[in-house]
Amino acid sequence: MLDGRTLAPIRLGNDAAASTATQSAETQGEGSPLHTAEEIMPITTEDTLRWLHQVAVVLHENREFLTQLDSPIGDADHGINMDRGFQAVLDKLPTVAGMDIGSILKTVGTTLVSTVGGASGPLYGTAFLRAGMVNAGKHELYEADVVDMLEAALEGIKARGKAVPGEKTMVDALSPALLAAKEAEAQHLGLSQLLRRASDAAEKGMKSTIPLLATKGRASYLGERSIGHQDPGATSSWLILKTLADTCG
Ligand code: ADP
Ligand code: MG
Repeated sequence: MLDGRTLAPIRLGNDAAASTATQSAETQGEGSPLHTAEEIMPITTEDTLRWLHQVAVVLHENREFLTQLDSPIGDADHGINMDRGFQAVLDKLPTVAGMDIGSILKTVGTTLVSTVGGASGPLYGTAFLRAGMVNAGKHELYEADVVDMLEAALEGIKARGKAVPGEKTMVDALSPALLAAKEAEAQHLGLSQLLRRASDAAEKGMKSTIPLLATKGRASYLGERSIGHQDPGATSSWLILKTLADTCG
């Protein structure tokens, strides 16, 4: 999709030379390319598949950690749920190779909904379905597409789970991540920086859940005793975004 925002300059570095080159290309007017080939570094379908493959690896490696986090404030299954869901995604990846990014993400969503029993299954399932819907037909994602994807995912989770920031859920990692991505897009920092800033903001948001009182999901049953524990879903959200930055940044 080549709307105005998609065409925002994507810079490889912060050096003045790159910046000047981009600006002069922009002001050259009709008929002139807005970018040189090197400046355009979108997320491709191959990158998307590598990201999802690596998410499965990272969630498998963090299965015990996520389950331990879910032990004091839940039912000790978040790592098991996420690992089961993404192992099923891993099995599906060969069947979606060659498809557009929207179709790939939608397949992830339906796979998570059908394989993950806990609250996180329908929530992440909806997030990936919505992310797929806004990227329908696309084979490359630029900064604006990534922002749209994060926004759609977060809106899907909020619509499904009715959580708002501050309730000790995955929303506390994803909301600041979206905000950071929007700021990076507005500043034309480039895709790499956008992904890194979103991941760093998610990590901060994840840590911010520790002192919070849970008012949504299973952890809310504990009332005051939920205070002092890091939210498992916010943690898996950070892992998914960190893996995006690591594989596509
Ligand atoms: P369950 O709670 O059913 O055992 P999981 O353990 O897999 O499911 O997932 C728990 C995580 O789901 C929580 O740490 C929290 O981040 C997230 N969560 C639970 N309920 C909601 C909700 N209503 N909105 C957003 N996230 C939620
Ligand atoms: Mg649980």
